[in-house]
Amino acid sequence: MTTPNKPWSRRLPEGTPGPRGWDTIVLGSGMGGMTCAAMLARLGQRVLVLEQHYVPGGFTHVFKRPGYHWDVGVHAVGEVTDRSLTGRLLAHLTGGRLQWRSLGPTYDEFDFPGGMHLEFPDNPQQFRDNLCTAFPDGAAAIDAYLQRVRDVAGAMKRYYLARMFPTRSGQLAEALFARPARQAFATTTADVLAQISNDERLRTVLCAQWAYHGSPPSRSSFAIQALVTKHFMYGGYYPVGGSGRIAAELLQTVADHGGWTRINADVAQILVEDGSAVGVRLTDGEEIRARRVVSAAGARTTVERLLPPEYTTRAWVASIRNLAPAPAHVCLYLGFKGDIRQAGAGPANRWFYNTWDHEADTWHIEHVPRDTIPGAPVLYCSFPSLKDPNHDPGPDVRHTGEVVTFVPWDRFAGWLGTRWQKRGGDYKEFKDALQASLLEQFLLKMPGLRGMVDHVELSTPLSTDHFVRPTRGSIYGLEPTPARFANPHLRPRSPIHNLFMAGSDVATVGVIGAMMGGVLAASSAEPRRALALLRGMSR
Ligand SMILES: Cc1cc2nc3c(=O)[nH]c(=O)nc-3n(C[C@H](O)[C@H](O)[C@H](O)COP(=O)(O)OP(=O)(O)OC[C@H]3O[C@@H](n4cnc5c(N)ncnc54)[C@H](O)[C@@H]3O)c2cc1C
Repeated sequence: MTTPNKPWSRRLPEGTPGPRGWDTIVLGSGMGGMTCAAMLARLGQRVLVLEQHYVPGGFTHVFKRPGYHWDVGVHAVGEVTDRSLTGRLLAHLTGGRLQWRSLGPTYDEFDFPGGMHLEFPDNPQQFRDNLCTAFPDGAAAIDAYLQRVRDVAGAMKRYYLARMFPTRSGQLAEALFARPARQAFATTTADVLAQISNDERLRTVLCAQWAYHGSPPSRSSFAIQALVTKHFMYGGYYPVGGSGRIAAELLQTVADHGGWTRINADVAQILVEDGSAVGVRLTDGEEIRARRVVSAAGARTTVERLLPPEYTTRAWVASIRNLAPAPAHVCLYLGFKGDIRQAGAGPANRWFYNTWDHEADTWHIEHVPRDTIPGAPVLYCSFPSLKDPNHDPGPDVRHTGEVVTFVPWDRFAGWLGTRWQKRGGDYKEFKDALQASLLEQFLLKMPGLRGMVDHVELSTPLSTDHFVRPTRGSIYGLEPTPARFANPHLRPRSPIHNLFMAGSDVATVGVIGAMMGGVLAASSAEPRRALALLRGMSR
């Protein structure tokens, strides 16, 4: 049952190891799991990746409708060129086959109330200049902010190195070598911005990208604010051919080294014997064994749903379970017929802010559909077909768009347990109302697109839960609060022998954050060989 030309299938192809022949099982094929699997494969291991969905890739997966396809969780990715270690490593892990295209000199455009328009460019000097032009009296504050970003992002490297050790020695290493990082991640973004400037509007602009990490300034650790700002200092990129290429290439590397990826492989439990992880049991009862298990399904998903019952009362499990998830989101997937460039669309993402209140986090839809639906505080809009040089608009000039905003999970939780696309009339009514409202809000911002809309579809936090299964439909896994960074147990090496955790939750949010979570897991599992590989990548 191998899918032709794809390095994954429901069942194992002939010639791959039997149920006892794997070195490592990686549970979950998101960016973290795929990176860990490809890296371990490159280090000589036979790796089996297990993915519950029928498409691999986690939030990097792609879905299709007639004439259109969309990425689920990839709009702009930084640090993928050969100027950064992550870019060089990703090229190595994909055999140089994964290519990236710049979004251009501007990767994000912001519109704020009152007509302020700001562009975030692909170099630090221009970034400073753009900010200073918008805030002529703010140069000193802007410089102080940029310096703080550089200092904190640099300091966090040692924090992540210390995270590769087991809990006790890791805490010691953190105290000895990562003290500046500890101070930085204990402070919120709001506190740092308050120290730097009294100008409310400048503060809002400086943290305007907080939707990339999912925690408003009063809750987010300044560490994540600094890491995201630094991440995009040299612009944003998009995978040539769409984000589905990421899974195709990373999982090809796994297959090229004797491993494989099984889709529709829903893990029910991690098997632990004598305190050591020895394999997994699927929901259909099949057991698969390996010398080591890496869970890349998310930290809370791992401890809440996948550990044997006797582990669920452990203190380390409780401490991870207590960490808050980032918010949930809705996404409007749009198909257009016509030249959307003429209507103002481009490769850069568009952010439409309806407020200067940088704490306004979610779309208040608590009373829909009884009351009038209010506007969302911010719309994040992206046009993937304009980012991809391989996109062929065809004779109908087809293009795609996406509109994202945060929503409260609790408004959807009542339908949890209902079946996808069969959730009942009340849900459909609610969802239709949201879809119509969001479409109208978007078209008011970009009216030139109105006549070109050919396909409209809304994903909700229940779609996210169905396809990727994060806690409470979270867009980014764990919320990047000071408590998350301080949590001593959130590290790739779990207290259970031979059980590791990969993905964004053990590093940071985003495609490259999750990739680093995979690198940390592979490096904790195979430290010597991983170090040699990474040394070869550094400059
Ligand atoms: C709307 C949206 C927009 C985004 N935009 C960007 C962006 O522009 N740039 C950027 O860098 N990042 C972006 N992100 C974030 C980025 O996509 C994620 O942070 C990253 O891909 C997460 O990777 P991960 O490996 O940590 O987890 P995931 O991608 O969540 O992978 C976890 C995997 O585990 C699987 N799984 C769970 N339970 C089981 C089980 N029991 N058995 C088997 N498999 C299981 C899931 O199906 C999933 O495939 C966006 C995310 C979203 C949702």
